[in-house]
Amino acid sequence: MSGAPNPLRVAIIGAGPAAFYAADHILKQSSSAEVDMFDRLPTPFGLVRHGVAPDHQKIKSVVKGFAAVATSPRFRFYGNVEFGRDVDLDGLARHYHQVLFATGAQTDRRMNIPGEDLAGSYPATEFVAWYNGHPAYRDEAFDLQTPAAVVVGVGNVAIDVARMLSLEEHELAATDMARHAVAALARSQVRDVYVLGRRGPAQAAFTTPELKELSELSNVDLVIDPAEAALDALSAAELERANDPVLRRKVELIQSLATRPPAGRPRRLHLRFLVSPETLIDDGHGRVAAVCLARNELVGSETGSLSAKPTGATETIAAGIVFRSVGYRGVPLPGVPFDTRWGVVANVAGRVCSPETHELVPGLYTAGWIKRGPSGVIGTNKADAVETVHAMLADAEAGLTLDPAQPTAAAADEYVCRCCARPVSFADWQRLDALEVEAGARAGCPRVKFASVTTMLAALAGEGGPAGN
Ligand code: NAP
Repeated sequence: MSGAPNPLRVAIIGAGPAAFYAADHILKQSSSAEVDMFDRLPTPFGLVRHGVAPDHQKIKSVVKGFAAVATSPRFRFYGNVEFGRDVDLDGLARHYHQVLFATGAQTDRRMNIPGEDLAGSYPATEFVAWYNGHPAYRDEAFDLQTPAAVVVGVGNVAIDVARMLSLEEHELAATDMARHAVAALARSQVRDVYVLGRRGPAQAAFTTPELKELSELSNVDLVIDPAEAALDALSAAELERANDPVLRRKVELIQSLATRPPAGRPRRLHLRFLVSPETLIDDGHGRVAAVCLARNELVGSETGSLSAKPTGATETIAAGIVFRSVGYRGVPLPGVPFDTRWGVVANVAGRVCSPETHELVPGLYTAGWIKRGPSGVIGTNKADAVETVHAMLADAEAGLTLDPAQPTAAAADEYVCRCCARPVSFADWQRLDALEVEAGARAGCPRVKFASVTTMLAALAGEGGPAGN
């Protein structure tokens, strides 16, 4: 790195998978670069902790690799430090040559239909954050005292939500689901969950293992209408053209599950296709009572993919709670150019740019969902982060960086400690982690999560553990 500043000092905002993959690559590719990673929460790992389903522990083992990155003497974690509240771009630009934004997609997309804001209608993103113990959602209350729930969308998040609504208490308690959510779901009256796909089986966004998992739930009948599982002529032709064995297997599994007779289990999960919610119907007191659905057919579109068009036929499903799981959306960061159309930081292959002119902003970069939008699995973020880091190191070589007045680790630390009352280090996190795992061992689950910042900081001060949250 001959032309680059030495050491190259990098701030990463966000501590999810994209952030850790980027830090790892920077530290490996440059023997002198120093990385400080910031997160508004005291805990690292982003969606691995607050997005991945509690019963998918294997996926979460990816954090072992992230923890190994944190052992580098050239890496520091500053948890409980929020960009825009505690630190800002001007402050960071005094201490770092480059700033990488990897803040993920923190909010939800809307359906834009009447009744969407009635009580009982929620974004799936909030439900997921709540059951995974995200401190900002600890006090949400989801009214589950209704026999039927609707989940709109057929992506993997919708499947996660439907599964969490369908598992029995002992199954939930054996996971690392936040204890407040286990208690609330144990009291749930929901017995029928309707998952709604606006297009057909060949266009479903969920993946085959996730569907298979639904079909194997012990107390749940998975109900699929064979007529909705059948392919229309356009989808059949599309499937033929795609010649994609993975997609073909998924469609075959859907069709074979549709022929399975219900076993009379106590819960039912209805996987529907070719239906779109048109209106959420008010019970007269401002709460959702039912969902009016339009039946759809598929038609060709300008983009080449098949899109849903209402046939004019409608039906109504009685349900007291509705989760829209129609995609996440990025949130703008103060002072960072944002592309409002796509809900991402404006960028060209990870280099931040003006959304209007595409002119590059030296020293600013982005990776992960806030760079490309909310798609792909955790591993997808590795290649994404590597692309950005290549750009960062090439720019550093070319001298295209910020021009920090005080580019030292000590000055940066002084700045952060001045701005935030209690930054949480990686060693602090490891103490919280150990307390969570210990509490989990006592409770017979992988960990009992701290679900509030106050209890985390109290535990770091030696007062109490996660059970008291
Ligand atoms: P997603 O995969 O993009 O799925 C969004 C779903 O919402 C699609 O079925 C989409 O249908 C539907 N939709 C969008 N707008 C709609 C509307 N107005 N009305 C009705 N339906 C609408 O998003 P996601 O489920 O939030 O997942 C995000 C990413 O995380 C995905 O890449 C996913 O695979 C990944 N993830 C993976 C796992 C796992 O590996 N187990 C778990 C969770 C999430 P159309 O196709 O018709 O647009």
